Amino acid sequence: MATIELSNRQRQIVDIVKENGPITGEHIAEQLGLTRATLRPDLAILTMAGFLEARPRVGYYYTGKSSKQLFAKHIRQMKVGEYKAVPIVMTEGASVYEAICHMFLEDVGTLYIVSKDGLLTGVVSRKDLLKAAMGRQDLQEVPVNVVMTRMPNIVTCHAEETLYDAAAKIMQYQVDSLPVVRQKGESQSALEVIGRITKTTITKAFVEMGEVRETV
Ligand code: ADP
Repeated sequence: MATIELSNRQRQIVDIVKENGPITGEHIAEQLGLTRATLRPDLAILTMAGFLEARPRVGYYYTGKSSKQLFAKHIRQMKVGEYKAVPIVMTEGASVYEAICHMFLEDVGTLYIVSKDGLLTGVVSRKDLLKAAMGRQDLQEVPVNVVMTRMPNIVTCHAEETLYDAAAKIMQYQVDSLPVVRQKGESQSALEVIGRITKTTITKAFVEMGEVRETV
């Protein structure tokens, strides 16, 4: 479901139901001087979008939800799993130099660092690498795990979580991305990286929401 822009007639229907509900389809049609059949598609849209509810033998009544509330509900139904991008990972043994090359090649701003057995151990961002590059060391010699943010200080999300919650964490912790993780085995800190949610992912979802104007 997405937000819909109501037509004049749909708005009139909502007003009638607000004032007179519960009210049957026939009675709404009467008030508008139209036939029940003409109204059917509008009533279907209004019911599906959540403005009205229909009870058999009782009629339509107004749910009291504004389009803003319905939109918020829609946003909270979007799941991380549906929107996540492919994670870009490197193993712990890599050097800062290799991490910089990888970041350019993959065109990402954050790399996730994993152990030999594929578990998340760190996150490296652009600024972490810039900081390392300001020193005098040979970047081919500096291991990436010296500059990364480590477990357990990594903010993560999981596939079943809402995109809204992930976006809120990005804001709260002031980071550019969250690894999407799945617990491996018993230990809560043994996490496999299965995706990433970034500011770009959120922006993409936002643009997509703006494109969908009507749901039938
Ligand atoms: P940038 O370096 O471009 O500002 P971020 O804002 O994402 O990118 O990173 C800021 C700092 O936060 C870096 O030190 C980085 O290692 C760390 N960081 C990035 N993502 C996370 C995360 N999901 N959890 C914890 N720390 C993170």
